[in-house]
Amino acid sequence: MTDTSYFNAVYKEAVELCVHLCKLYKLTEKDIIGHYEGHQRGIASNHADPRHWFSRHGKSMNTFRADVKKLLSEGAKPVEPEKKKYYRVQIGAYSVKANAEAQLATAKKAGFSDAFIKYD
Ligand SMILES: [Zn+2]
Repeated sequence: MTDTSYFNAVYKEAVELCVHLCKLYKLTEKDIIGHYEGHQRGIASNHADPRHWFSRHGKSMNTFRADVKKLLSEGAKPVEPEKKKYYRVQIGAYSVKANAEAQLATAKKAGFSDAFIKYD
């Protein structure tokens, strides 16, 4: 990987991570600061990151926040709940409830902890 493609891959993942964290904690791109910005605000130690390597690739915390904002607004559209398909395995049909319960116990003993009885 070239330095630029490596940077772009890491940058993209950092944007996606911040979008994820913004959604998770109900934050916006305005809540994201670099270490050096934290130092400017008096809440972080004196580090230059990520300005010193962002600037080498034409990026800044402002472009970073803009990219997070863009991806956040794209993700603001309601997401279709994923329709999951389940394939269920049936291991018996019993007319006597006790027999069904006995079979369930056997299945659970065999390690099928998700086994259950379904009544039609
Ligand atoms: Zn740092």
